[in-house]
Amino acid sequence: MEAGQKTITDMLYSLAGIPLEAWGSYAFSRDPVNAKVTSGQRRDWTRKAIACGVEYAQKVIHECGSRNPDMICRHFGLTISCFEFQQQDGRLLFAEYWEPDRINIYQDAVQKGQELCETESIPETMVLKSEIRSILLAHEIFHFLEYRYNQDIFTKTQKIRLWSIGPVHNDSGIMALGEVAAMAFSQKINHLSYAPYIIDLLLTYAYCPAFARELYEEMMALNLE
Ligand SMILES: [Zn+2]
Repeated sequence: MEAGQKTITDMLYSLAGIPLEAWGSYAFSRDPVNAKVTSGQRRDWTRKAIACGVEYAQKVIHECGSRNPDMICRHFGLTISCFEFQQQDGRLLFAEYWEPDRINIYQDAVQKGQELCETESIPETMVLKSEIRSILLAHEIFHFLEYRYNQDIFTKTQKIRLWSIGPVHNDSGIMALGEVAAMAFSQKINHLSYAPYIIDLLLTYAYCPAFARELYEEMMALNLE
């Protein structure tokens, strides 16, 4: 690390102070429909996506009688696979949901994140290393819920009109809504004080600190908008 550079703990603390409501710009920056969305719409939809994630977390906790992601998976008949590290299109993948009933957790990422918590002495009041897997798992459970309730759930029913010529139009789903809602769901299930987006930074840092620093700058810039 160069002199004067922020430590991973410094970066996590800065990001932990940013409420999930402010992460909408970051989420939308990764969505191909972003250029079609006004900042007012983005704010409104982010708020609604968060409300959706929280609502489903409350429903699921009630229905399963547990907030433990493993118990919730068992309740819904979801299979959890632990794969080794995977990289897709040059970006790191930590977990994913496969329709209809499988969640893959990339164990290498979880382990590297846990090791980083130890080697960098990240305070347990910040991130508990035991939480990393649960945070990823809960996020993917939400994507399963989107699949299961796709006729009703806000993140799937909200569309954006890409173009329209007379009576012909093309509407698209909005991926960013599912991502924000999955983070809200995971935050609620895991009782986190911070937006789970910071786990993306932590795990990215575990693989490549330089890339994580760029990601941090991007996250800070977008969240300050
Ligand atoms: Zn996701």
